Amino acid sequence: MALALSLHDAGLGEIEIHESAPALRELGVGINVLPHAVRELTELGLLDDLYGTGIPTGELAYYSRRGQRIWAEARGLAAGYRWPQFSIHRGELLGILHRAVAERIGAAHVHTGHHLVRFGQEKDHVWAEFGDQSRDEGDVLVGCDGIHSAVRRAFHPDEGPPKWNGITMWRGVTPGKPFLTGRTMIMAGHFGRRMVVYPISKRHEEGRRALINWVAELKNASDQPMPLQDWEHTARADQVIEPFASFVFEFLDVPAMIRRAQAIYQYPMVDRDPLPTWSFGRVTLLGDAAHPMFPVGSNGASQAIIDARVLARELALQASVEAAVVSYDAVRRPATAAIVQANRQVGPERCMDVVEERAPDGFGSLDAVISQAELLEISRSYKRTAGFDPDVLNRRPSLSVR
Ligand SMILES: Cc1cc2nc3c(=O)[nH]c(=O)nc-3n(C[C@H](O)[C@H](O)[C@H](O)COP(=O)(O)OP(=O)(O)OC[C@H]3O[C@@H](n4cnc5c(N)ncnc54)[C@H](O)[C@@H]3O)c2cc1C
Repeated sequence: MALALSLHDAGLGEIEIHESAPALRELGVGINVLPHAVRELTELGLLDDLYGTGIPTGELAYYSRRGQRIWAEARGLAAGYRWPQFSIHRGELLGILHRAVAERIGAAHVHTGHHLVRFGQEKDHVWAEFGDQSRDEGDVLVGCDGIHSAVRRAFHPDEGPPKWNGITMWRGVTPGKPFLTGRTMIMAGHFGRRMVVYPISKRHEEGRRALINWVAELKNASDQPMPLQDWEHTARADQVIEPFASFVFEFLDVPAMIRRAQAIYQYPMVDRDPLPTWSFGRVTLLGDAAHPMFPVGSNGASQAIIDARVLARELALQASVEAAVVSYDAVRRPATAAIVQANRQVGPERCMDVVEERAPDGFGSLDAVISQAELLEISRSYKRTAGFDPDVLNRRPSLSVR
């Protein structure tokens, strides 16, 4: 959807979206959209919709598994960015994008129930065939088909399944009371046993309530098989509560929150190795199809949105489709490969592991465990890698063609 809007904004017409699901449904739990992606959505004219739906995240705070605060930093506008950061329901984010596609491009150009099964290219066009026997042709084919991408598999048939780091993630949303500032995102614990919690709904905030999104991460015993990898695989609350039973903090009762969840989804934490190329003539990859990464630092979808904007710009400005695809690949592949690697090193959440290693029984004075300078460097270095250092982002020229 973000790619379709970006192509349209860059003045490119005749866009067709082929989606495998039988219908577009606003499902899922929460997601964080970082300022570098909010900038792109703002330039696509969607800022008011984001404000109308999500929570502009004001603070990110890291805690030990005992609920002791390690580090907190302002986020979004409060951190000096020209664009906010949003915590939002995934289904509602998809709804915002989908409505804009329907208004600007036309609902008839979104083809659901079209599962790509085969594609190929000739000198002057590409073609694609779908499971329902339909077929389409165009100038360029962009595989935005997720971590199990059929387009990626066609070019890299020996790659095998995604790589699992042994962590199972459970995600849910629970209606509850606002906690801390009401716009704080927290992480608590350490690698292998960690909670991520943040509010996602403006509507609930207006009613002085919170719709709380949470992710529980647990390292499995080495003999446990990888859980099923599917966006809609659900789990039971008692499975999740047991390892987090001690996470009862002054400001948030984690086990009680898990117990009251509307539904709990389960996923393995997986990624893939960066590829040597994404571009093959008139075909390329985007988003998780191109660079699936561990969901550390809230970056996968944000990077997909930036891919969309860069690809649209190159297609509008380069002399040929092939040249545009090569140039997109040259910009985005190394940038996202660096984030895939940084996320394997636990990204900005490293501060929690340092504290767990040095003070497993808790601490009296944080300064005796880790200095403020060390904490600041952990936070800054990830922002530089992921392209959202505030100074760099604020000064970078727009990706808009117009
Ligand atoms: C637990 C967790 C938390 C996360 N939190 C964040 C976060 O806070 N911030 C963030 O930026 N990112 C986050 N991410 C990452 C983010 O979810 C992904 O990066 C993002 O969904 C990728 O979008 P995508 O469109 O590339 O792929 P997907 O969202 O996987 O979409 C792929 C689409 O392609 C369709 N499809 C698949 N195969 C075919 C086919 N053969 N033909 C046609 N259609 C097909 C699918 O039905 C699907 O609609 C998180 C991920 C996880 C697992």
